Amino acid sequence: MSDLKILFATSECELFAKTGGLGDVAFALPKQLALNENIDIRVVMPKYKSILEKVSSNFTFVTSFNVEVGWRNQYCGIFMYKMNNVTYYFIDNEYYFNRDNLYGYYDDGERFAFFDRAVIMMLEEVDFKADIIHGNDWQCGMIPALLNIQYKDNPFYSNIKYVYSIHNLLFQGNYDKNVLPDLFNIDLEYYHNGILGFDNGVSYMKAALMYSTKILTVSKTYAEEIKMPYLGEKMDGLLRERSEDFFGIVNGIDYSLYNPETDSLIYENYSLENIEDKHKNKLALQKELGLPVRSDIPMIGIVSRLTGQKGVDIIRQVGEYLLQQDIQFVILGTGDYEYEEYFKYLQYKYPNKVSANIKFNKELSHKIYAASDIFLMPSLFEPCGLGQLIALRYGSVPVVRETGGLKDTIIPYNKYTGEGNGFSFRNYNSIELYDCLQKAIAYYQDEKVWNDLVKSAIESNNSWEKSAKVYEELYLSIL
Ligand code: ADP
Repeated sequence: MSDLKILFATSECELFAKTGGLGDVAFALPKQLALNENIDIRVVMPKYKSILEKVSSNFTFVTSFNVEVGWRNQYCGIFMYKMNNVTYYFIDNEYYFNRDNLYGYYDDGERFAFFDRAVIMMLEEVDFKADIIHGNDWQCGMIPALLNIQYKDNPFYSNIKYVYSIHNLLFQGNYDKNVLPDLFNIDLEYYHNGILGFDNGVSYMKAALMYSTKILTVSKTYAEEIKMPYLGEKMDGLLRERSEDFFGIVNGIDYSLYNPETDSLIYENYSLENIEDKHKNKLALQKELGLPVRSDIPMIGIVSRLTGQKGVDIIRQVGEYLLQQDIQFVILGTGDYEYEEYFKYLQYKYPNKVSANIKFNKELSHKIYAASDIFLMPSLFEPCGLGQLIALRYGSVPVVRETGGLKDTIIPYNKYTGEGNGFSFRNYNSIELYDCLQKAIAYYQDEKVWNDLVKSAIESNNSWEKSAKVYEELYLSIL
């Protein structure tokens, strides 16, 4: 019998379906927690169309039942899969989840209203009496509201605690007030009395902030930043009110998934012992992308969603100045049309210096982490950021803006003490970005300094071990 039973609810998870950092966390944190045999951790997510057939063909069907989504009565199948001591459940409904993408549909509010109630009902159906549900982001925001408003009198649910993680406060799941009766059978009173009302409508994320036992986010600095109006996205007041129950715990990365020594997606494996082999990845990537094949040129990598959050605006202001020098830029990302077009333009104008890969591609992302010398992440805000952690692991030296998790994980290089694992600048403007990147490029020419930097990047410890312990303590503290 396990002492601690947790259901981890998420809208994405690496190896099954992922669009960003949440997918990494939802895979790695439960896996790390499951190493403790006193913890029974199970993950639940939608059974998306994009889960590869060779993976989903190993799922086993568990049960099915019907879920009320307001006046609608929808089929819900439950599939199961076990791996690394973690049990994964998949919520099946073809009408909601058999679509090309994970999100971005006119009825996302309805899709995740269905998901949230299905997650709750599933517990009883599969007879898993969880002590804690740990939900993530707006997609899981209504679970604690439903539990509190509609399931409190059911003894199966009455003692469940709810932990909620904010991976990005920008995405809140805000809808018209009528979704309350229409999708959740919740009285409009909850809108009028202000409990679920937000910005003239209702917000799934606010619901979670109101009803969760504990609220988490993914770095200490971001936890402080979002308690202030500038990055608070209109939730800062509520977060300040709940500050006693609100903490930042920094993310790690899965050290077996991201390991230059064993990674089968990169051209040449390497570690600190044979670090000179890292540059073979650069040569091979240059060849593959049609860039001049040269080991002496600094390669700057970007793997990112191309949105306002990620600092593309300030890259755009100085991109062409930077490209007057002897450097290479390799970009992998998708996002806003104007940013995608900008990088395509750069590639068109500087074909010998820029490779713009406008797509989502896991294999190429690993190749870029392994090949690049510098990893650029000048975010306007960054809850934690995994790109810079993966870059460190592969010895690509991060250049970042000091915000959120970037501030907590990148120690700027100090030429006097030799400390540091990257470069950082403080204010969100293109001049500081330019200066900071210039500094990194200049140090790249100094072999001794650069080798030391690469070494301390690789030696930075961002595995999940430490942070998972903090989660464990937090879970135990609320039982
Ligand atoms: P966010 O979650 O805000 O998008 P993070 O840095 O926390 O940013 O996580 C991004 C994750 O998604 C990393 O694992 C990164 O490698 C991956 N990623 C981002 N863009 C792409 C892409 N175009 N192709 C492949 N992987 C990508």
